[in-house]
Amino acid sequence: MSEPRLRDQLRVEPGTKVRLARFDPSDTHGHTKGASETELADGLVRLAGLQDRLWAEGKHPVLVILQGIDAAGKDGTVHHVMSAFSPQGCPVTDFKVPSSLEMGHDYLWRVHQHAPAKGEIAIFNRSHYEDVLVVRVHDLVPKATWKRRYDQINDWERMLVEEGTTVVKFFLVIDRDEQRRRFQDRFSDPTKRWKFKMGDLAERARWDDYTQAFEDALGRCSTAVAPWYLIPANKNWFRNLAVAEILGDVLEELKPAYPPIDPSVPADLVID
Ligand code: AMP
Ligand code: MG
Repeated sequence: MSEPRLRDQLRVEPGTKVRLARFDPSDTHGHTKGASETELADGLVRLAGLQDRLWAEGKHPVLVILQGIDAAGKDGTVHHVMSAFSPQGCPVTDFKVPSSLEMGHDYLWRVHQHAPAKGEIAIFNRSHYEDVLVVRVHDLVPKATWKRRYDQINDWERMLVEEGTTVVKFFLVIDRDEQRRRFQDRFSDPTKRWKFKMGDLAERARWDDYTQAFEDALGRCSTAVAPWYLIPANKNWFRNLAVAEILGDVLEELKPAYPPIDPSVPADLVID
């Protein structure tokens, strides 16, 4: 029997009601820290090879979405996993508080512009999901407006998939105590302090509201064509390993291949 894949273990099955209280963010699914360094190194080599072929082939757009509460490790995932990719084929977009230009449009406008072209792997660090998360928690739009967005998001993602894009969504889960440790660490470490904002504490105080918003977004927007993967992220090494393995499995399924050789080039060509 083949080994269980994290892709199958961590996927949110469409139609399930997600309860984060029942999810263990420290679970390592039988992986050990000792072996993780080699495992991750192998995973990154695999990703690098897949991306090189995907880019050379120029046929498939891939969209990777990263979400998670503050300090869940979104930036760290970009740094430690997506670094396997050549920057040339891998644009990363951070979605912050919308600018006034962005606010003048519908919420998908700013996002759609950064959707990947054929051969690219576009990374979204936060995404249109903010429009059913922070926007919901802070009542930035009426309830009737954000409630409609789950279906709109599913429709938009389905359109991308039907047009050829592969959509992979990672939700990084840490618990409240781990967030406390990370904030404390950010505050104490002069190289990380810039990341800490007083506003982070106000958001932390709304932990339960965020949890409810996360559960709804995960449950309502994990679809067969664009599933969510729930990543236990208390341990950075496991988070990296899990994202690398799942992304590798997804990319492998696309069977990216170098383009055929130009038939006008003679097989025995010698360049002098
Ligand atoms: P960071 O990821 O720490 O740089 O922070 C970006 C901030 O922008 C977070 O607090 C997000 O919640 C916020 N943000 C992102 N998208 C939106 C949005 N559509 N509406 C309001 N706030 C947003
Ligand atoms: Mg922040």
